[in-house]
Amino acid sequence: MPPIHLSTNFVFDAPGVYAKYDYTRTANPTRDLAAEAIAALEGGCGAVVTSSGMSAIAVATRLLSAGDLLLAPRDCYGGSYRLFSAEADRGTYRVRFVDPWDPESRRLARRLRPRMIWIETPSNPHLRITDIAAWARVARDIGAICVADNTFLSPVNQRPLEFGADLVVHSTTKFLNGHGDVVGGAVVAADADLLEDVAWWTNAMGASGAPFDAYLTLRGMRTLHARSRVHEANALRVVDLLDRSDTVIRVHHPSLPDHPGHDIARRQQTGWGSLVSFELRGGREAVEAFVDGIEHFALAESLGGVESLVTHPWTMTHASMDEPARVAAGIGEGLLRLSVGIEAFEDLEADLKRALSRAEAVAVPTGEAAARTM
Ligand code: PLP
Repeated sequence: MPPIHLSTNFVFDAPGVYAKYDYTRTANPTRDLAAEAIAALEGGCGAVVTSSGMSAIAVATRLLSAGDLLLAPRDCYGGSYRLFSAEADRGTYRVRFVDPWDPESRRLARRLRPRMIWIETPSNPHLRITDIAAWARVARDIGAICVADNTFLSPVNQRPLEFGADLVVHSTTKFLNGHGDVVGGAVVAADADLLEDVAWWTNAMGASGAPFDAYLTLRGMRTLHARSRVHEANALRVVDLLDRSDTVIRVHHPSLPDHPGHDIARRQQTGWGSLVSFELRGGREAVEAFVDGIEHFALAESLGGVESLVTHPWTMTHASMDEPARVAAGIGEGLLRLSVGIEAFEDLEADLKRALSRAEAVAVPTGEAAARTM
């Protein structure tokens, strides 16, 4: 196993004689190994490893200049939405939020000629699917940089560069590390020019990741394929369980044949992923009953770790969006998102059944619930 190089700086042989490593913000052997592994998994020409997913996103959007337009999904990750909006407010660049699954927005893009097109598929928290190849074609035709946030699926389940994206960003905090003990990010570039630009900005902004985090991420990535298989098998069974429940109004998962992005997902994904969201009958009250006492799903933000999590987007991941923006993105108070982990399915099943019956008790008048169980 490779050692961890924690050194801040490296000794020069002589003045003016530059070796590969001089200062860890610029380059570090352990971080380079993590970057090479992520680039290889995504099929890119190289990558930078950053201190968080958000710093990876900040680095990628540094390629925009004042006046440039960024076209981003309306229901992108709440932190991305916050950053893009705040940068646009202070004139760093312009932003326009669109519904990327709507073909009309591609026609709009051809008219608006953005400098950067941002893709997040499946989206958060509705798991809507965006056609990467179709958007990459638009980007190529108008000379835009096409960036895909591949955090939700990881390269095991989707490789956006193969469909024409120019950059892939990751919150390595999620599936790539997978163990809930690192906050990190990465930007993978399709070609050497883009790689040089993102590496320059990563160093200039001081956005590089810590060597110890890179070491842990490398260790996490060794089991990425094996973890992904169990994540997916559990997720498909969870989807089935939720889909059969009367307490659930709608389940969002691209594996479902009636999911609007099912066919595109089948084309561009090599796995369904283990994020599932669903709308509970009974709104906020039912949500509170569901999470009260849930045992194996921790009420926490984040996703992609070995442990199962439940998130309430309204009050957690998407709380930084103002209420009208959340409503416009279709995020209601009854929506919950699960990150299905790799525990024994039977434990997750028992937990979900208990939580659903608690939710049902508040969602449905008592007499009716009793009548249903007879
Ligand atoms: N992109 C997506 C899709 C995310 O879900 C997240 C975090 O939840 C991020 C980016 C930001 O990553 P980080 O929390 O590592 O900064």
